[in-house]
Amino acid sequence: MSKTELLYEGKAKKIWKTEDKEFLISEFKDDLTAFNGEKKSSEEGKGALNNQISSALFKLLNEKGIPTHFVKMLDENNMLHKSCDVIKIEVIVRNIATGSLSKNLGIENGKVLPFTLVEFDYKNDELGDPKINDQHALILGLVQHQDELDKIRRVARQINEILKPYFFERGLKLVDFKLEFGKDKDGNIILIDELSPDNCRFWDVESGESLDKDRFRQGQGGLKLAYEQVLNRILNK
Ligand code: 5GP
Repeated sequence: MSKTELLYEGKAKKIWKTEDKEFLISEFKDDLTAFNGEKKSSEEGKGALNNQISSALFKLLNEKGIPTHFVKMLDENNMLHKSCDVIKIEVIVRNIATGSLSKNLGIENGKVLPFTLVEFDYKNDELGDPKINDQHALILGLVQHQDELDKIRRVARQINEILKPYFFERGLKLVDFKLEFGKDKDGNIILIDELSPDNCRFWDVESGESLDKDRFRQGQGGLKLAYEQVLNRILNK
């Protein structure tokens, strides 16, 4: 299957139509953005790393019974996946307090949460992805029924229960991550987008070092090496 027409260009990916309307191709870009696009840069090879990491994690989740849009990795930067109607909710799953949770609520950075927190943000760049509750999601028409929100929350927790021990075995704490869901042609809610150090926080178990996009957000450098470490730990356990 090959690219026919550019459907959409986002901050980290281009989404292409293919000859088959049921399938799209995501092209992972080297561009980096943070703080809702205010900070921008580029890191050669980042897109290829995120494609490989996401492909490996989607494959793992598919094998564990979590439906995802993933079909296959086509080459270094391109992933073939199902076409879905995007649900405009960013689902944030947190095991350890940091980032906006610590900033907004004053919870100590690095505090292990007493239980996994699942939050919803409205996926809307103009509004800066504001935090919403279930009623907001229903009023905005982001989903039609409470059942769908319950399902999204349940699947997000299942994904965490798979990925948290998976990364711990590989010397990484899965601190938090952002998921997106869509509806496939049969109306099933499935995991879409990507799973990579661009939208997950990983802390090295030994050193506590960030191996994710926080290196860019905080101007630390060494981003590519960090992403390579994440991939190597996935591939070479
Ligand atoms: P925070 O709310 O602390 O900034 O982010 C929580 C987690 O969700 C982090 O792992 C972060 O990478 C991810 N996340 C939140 N919003 C976005 C977003 O708009 N884009 C991406 N790529 N990741 C996000």
